[in-house]
Formats: sequence, C-alpha cells, structure tokens
Amino acid sequence: MKIYYCPEYVASEHDFDTTRKPGWVAASLAASPIAGVEVVRPEALTSAQIELAHDRAYVDAVRTGEPHGLARSSGLGWCEQAWTMVGHSNGGVVAAVREAWRNRVNSGSLSCGLHHARRESGSGFCTFNGLAIAALVALAEGARAVLIVDVDAHCGGGTHAILRDEARVALVDVSVSMADSYEPGPTASLRVVRDARRYLGAIREGMAALRGRKFDVCIYNSGMDPHEDCALGGLDGVTAAMLAEREALVFGWCHEQGIPMAFTLAGGYTGARLAQEELVGLHRLTIRAADVK
Ligand SMILES: [Zn+2]
Repeated sequence: MKIYYCPEYVASEHDFDTTRKPGWVAASLAASPIAGVEVVRPEALTSAQIELAHDRAYVDAVRTGEPHGLARSSGLGWCEQAWTMVGHSNGGVVAAVREAWRNRVNSGSLSCGLHHARRESGSGFCTFNGLAIAALVALAEGARAVLIVDVDAHCGGGTHAILRDEARVALVDVSVSMADSYEPGPTASLRVVRDARRYLGAIREGMAALRGRKFDVCIYNSGMDPHEDCALGGLDGVTAAMLAEREALVFGWCHEQGIPMAFTLAGGYTGARLAQEELVGLHRLTIRAADVK
C-alpha cells in the first residue's frame, strides 16, 4: 500500500500539530514499519490544479504572501515555505486518490489541514482543501463519481461550500462538534453526534444511506480529534478502541462495496491529556485498517 509523504509536508516555520504531525507519523512508520506500507514522495500540485477548488487571488496570496491577511487566513501564519508545504501535502492527496482509483487499491497521504479551507480563503488551520481538489482532479481525469467521508471531530464546511453544486461528489460528514457546520445541500449529509454511544451508529447510518450508489473512489478524512483526550474537539466516551472500530467499519464498508479508498490524517491534536506518541498511535489505526484483505 502506497502512502504519500515527503519532508516538505512539515516545511512551514509555523510550529503546530498540523504543520508537524505528518513528520511524526512518517518517523513512526520508519521506526516501526507496518507490513506492506511503502512511503512514496508525491509531486507538488500546480496552481492550475489548486484553482479547480480555489480562487486565483487566494492561490496567488498563498504563493506570494500578499495580501497579508489573505495569505494567513488558514491561521498557520505564512513563510517562504508555506507554498511548498501545501503544494506537496495537497499533492499527496491527489496522488493517493489517483493510486486508489486507477489501481483499485487503498492508499493514503499523511496530510492534514484540509477540510475547512474555502474557495476564497483558508480557515481553521486549513490552507487548501485537498479533499475538494483531489475529487475535482479525479472527475477532470474521467472519474464518474467520488465519495468523501469526513469523520474529523469538526464539520467540513469548506468541503461542502466548494462542492455543494457538484452532483458527482457525495459528502458523508459525521462530526462531534458544531464547528464549521452547514445546512447540507442535496449532495451531502451531516450528522453531529453529542453522545459517544451514538457515534458509530451515526457513521453506519451515513454509509448505509449510500447503498446502491456507485463510486470510483472514496476520499476518507480520518481525523482522530473525536478522541476523548483531544483538547480540540474530543467527545467524552470516544476511546481508542472505538476509533479502531470506526476505521474497521469504514474501510470494511467500502471494501464490501468495491470502492477503493484514499485516506488523509485530518485532525488530532496533542495536549495535556494526549501525548504525541498516543496521537501517532491513533493515526496508525487508520493505516493498519487501510490494509484490508
Ligand atoms: Zn478537526
């Protein structure tokens, strides 16, 4: 299984989990390999590819650093390396989606900071919306229908805003926080769960509602921030065991339906109750579950 990553993912000067975590997970894969996983370097996206999902003025701002406010709208600051970082980390999502779709195998990218980004600006530690970009690249290259499953703690309002009029993309969003929530249009479903006992059931319902529909590929935004010890989004009662079950459920469902998957890391933040090693362990659950036989 190919997992995309390169050191450019963490090239930003801004020190935050979103700009460092891909490196932590990559280091963990180097120190304790998971059988069958091959870490592959992706190509950076071109401006034209990014502009499938974002306004040119915003893309130019991220590249040049000007205007100041727009270039920093993700909340991750701006530095000379910002463009390189997001070009590669979003390029990894596109590469994983192509790998999954064309070869009908699961794949992934150690990318995070995607689903809040809007067409016209960044938002909530997200610069470019690699989920929307990858879906639109796949459609432009001949895919007929793309599924996006987003189980980050927070709602994926950026993805919905960019893709709401694209009938060939279905968005299934199950969140545990109202942050970045939206009124779903006909192509999306949103469930916000406030009781951990309902969490897996809500994901099952969201997936079951798709039964009978055909998708060429599923992009899975697999946040670990619903974990009860995550300070940014965690819901009491959501344990590591429950998140492992979630991963088995989503990968198992798509496998049954014959839909290859491309995952991303999405949210999950260190804090007083969640050490770096634990957080990396949670993201490794996704990588293990992706290797469905
Ligand atoms: Zn989140």
